[in-house]
Order: sequence, then structure tokens, then C-alpha cells
Amino acid sequence: MEYAERIPRKELRELQNKRLRHIVKLAYEKSRTYHYKFKEAGVHPDDIKTVEDLPKLPFSSKDDYARDFRGVICDDKIAVWHTTSGTTGLPTIVGFTANDVEVQTSLEARNLRVIGVTEKDIIHNTTPYGMFFAGICLHEGARKIGATVIPAGKMPTAKQHVWLVELFNPTVILGIPQFILKLSYVYEEVTGKDPAKSSIRLIYALGEPLPDTVRKRLEDRWGAEVRIGYGLTEAGSGAECEEKNGVHWPEDHTLVEVVDPKTGEPVGEGEEGELVYTTMTRTGSVAIRFRSRDLSRVILDECSCGRTLVRVLPPKYRKDDLIKIRGTLTSPYAIDRAIFAHPEIRNYLCVIEKDERGVTDILKVYIESEKEDPRIIMDLAQKLGGGICVTPNFIKFVPIGSIPEIGRKGKRVIDLRVENPYEDIVREFMKKFDKQ
Ligand SMILES: [Zn+2]
Repeated sequence: MEYAERIPRKELRELQNKRLRHIVKLAYEKSRTYHYKFKEAGVHPDDIKTVEDLPKLPFSSKDDYARDFRGVICDDKIAVWHTTSGTTGLPTIVGFTANDVEVQTSLEARNLRVIGVTEKDIIHNTTPYGMFFAGICLHEGARKIGATVIPAGKMPTAKQHVWLVELFNPTVILGIPQFILKLSYVYEEVTGKDPAKSSIRLIYALGEPLPDTVRKRLEDRWGAEVRIGYGLTEAGSGAECEEKNGVHWPEDHTLVEVVDPKTGEPVGEGEEGELVYTTMTRTGSVAIRFRSRDLSRVILDECSCGRTLVRVLPPKYRKDDLIKIRGTLTSPYAIDRAIFAHPEIRNYLCVIEKDERGVTDILKVYIESEKEDPRIIMDLAQKLGGGICVTPNFIKFVPIGSIPEIGRKGKRVIDLRVENPYEDIVREFMKKFDKQ
């Protein structure tokens, strides 16, 4: 374990104060966006002496990056430009200097060590390369540890991933949990072997919230340990230690605050709110009090693993993900959790639209299941209706493999009451199955 991970809190605070003062001064002098924001808020770098002074600084958001992505840069010597995955709307453009890349890949190496990766491991990386930072960052992080990397990225078909797994016998697989779950079924179909007997011993689940029901399924199917990673391109990332209760956040590089999403005021210790990040060691795109729109909380208690860095509970949803169905607020996470509690269900699609008169919300659920047992439908209706108060208008079995892959992260809850880029794909699918 690095010293920085088990640094005494007092010493960490001194380091944070020093780094914060430095970045605030740099942002004021070099970034046109922050210079303007600080002036407008009537705050000067001299007013910021410690982390306690953070609330004096104005917030920033995706809008600032969208309006002027060069405006948040503090050093013109950008080594590489990346975009975010655009989980919430349009992708954000983020620039990294050579040193920023060095720092971020070192932190990713730290994350991989936290989940138990060693130089003996062979890592199958299914995170896309190209414009997304996560793919290459994990790749370089793994190389720093001395592990072997299979840069699979996003291959055209799951079968090609299976082929690579059989060829190189990776011990670790990284990527979106739903994809890794799907891969276990494809693996079984293609090789005729039980995925739990494959070379995979560890799964690093990234990029989407992971309900306990899906986590258990992944563990059972692959016979592997599952660890969660959480982060965002603009701010950094953390990973779960053996406690499996929150990701250790790289507080020595990026500060985390929790604020009330409505008022922007700090919430009480350990309470839930919107996560706000301040990067202190990047000089390319700098985030100062960046509102992530992720809702979660921070665990301040000491961790049994010996790390002193706080833990951020991986958010179950983003502010923008919450959906109101007939007046009840829910999230794709809650729906995932309820539906994947059935071990027979492999995949599903949940569509929300208005009825013909445009008045009432209609909820349709299509499921791919190993067994077409009517009891599954009855139980699901109960779980969704009674459990999370969103009673479906119908639940229908569809053949395995018939649900289209929607978006990079394979969206399973589609809201057609608002403009949706996947409307055509979804309507075509519904046309095929609604009448049957
Ligand atoms: Zn820990």
C-alpha cells in the first residue's frame, strides 16, 4: 500500500490545503472561466487558505465545459484530448497535460492494486479505447503494475471477446457489469464450458451502478470476486477494497464534498447529497467545485483495510436518471435490482410512454428468460408494483437475444415521453412484439 493511501488524516489535510491554495491561484491566473467566476462571486485566491474555505468558491458544471472547454484549461500544453461517455447528455471535452496523464494513470494503478491486481495478472480490458479516457487509463495503470494487458476494448461481437479469453486465459476482466454478465452466457454457448471454471478470478465492474442482485449473479456465473470502481473523467476515480463498502477516493488529488442538490449547501456528515469535486493536481482541464449530478454519500469512518482515504459510496443514480412514472419517482437501478433478482432473467427492456390520448403513463416490460414460467411474470408484477410502486401495464417474454443493444452502456430503461435518441430502435422492437 502506498504511503498516500494510509497517510494520517492530519498530514493529509495539510497536503490538501497546500494543493488547494496552489490550484485556486493557478485557476484564477490562467483559466478564463474560473477567473471570471471568482470575480463574479467576489472571491480572491487569498481568501482560500484551507479546505474549510471551499464553500466560498463558486460551483462549476458540465455547462461550463460545454460553453467553453478551453476556458477551464490552466496549462495550454495539452498532451491529449478525451471526451466523456456522455452518460448524462452531451459528452464533455477534457484535456490532459503529460503530467496529468502520468498522475491519473498512477492513480489507476493504485485502484487496480486496491482491488487486488498484481504483476502476475492478465487483464482483459473491455472498456472502450479511443475518445474515452477510461480505456487507455486502465490500460496504462495495469502496465504500471507490471500486469499483462489484453486491449480488447469494444470488439464488434461478444464472441470475439470469448475467443480472446480462451486464447490468453486472462485472470481479471474490466468493464460494464451488464456486458460482463452477458459475456458469461455467450462464453457458455460458444465453448460449452462453465464460465465459473474459466481463468477469470476477478471482475472490476465500472461505468454503471451495480445492484446487489446483479453483483451476486456475476460472482456466481463467473465464480469470481467482484469489485466496483467509480469515477468520472473530469475528476478521477476510486476502487473498492476488500471491505466492499464504498470506493477509496483519491483525496490527496481530488477533494470531494457533498451538498444539498437543491440549495448547494453542505449536508451533514455522512448524509446523502450531490457529490462535488475539486481537482488539485491537474493543470489541463481543472475542475473546481464541479457538480457531478451524482447523488450519494461519503463514509468517513476508518476502514479495516488500513487506508485512511475516505470512501465514496458508488452512486445508485444520477440526478438526471430519476424517472417519474405515474407520479412515483424511481431509478433504473431500482428496476434493475428488482428484475435481476430472478436468476432466470438474462436481459430486459423497460419502456415508458404516454397512452394514445397522451395522458396516462404506460409501462411495458419485455424480458428474455431461460424459462418462460408465468410465475416469473406474477412475481415481477408484485416486485415492481408492490416493491417500488411502478405497476407495469404488461410484462412479456421475448426470445433470448431479441432485445436490441441500446447505447454504449446497453440502456434497459427507455423513456419515450421525452425526446430519445433510441426511439426508432425501440419502436421497431415494440412493433414486432406488442401484437404477439
Ligand atoms: Zn478499505
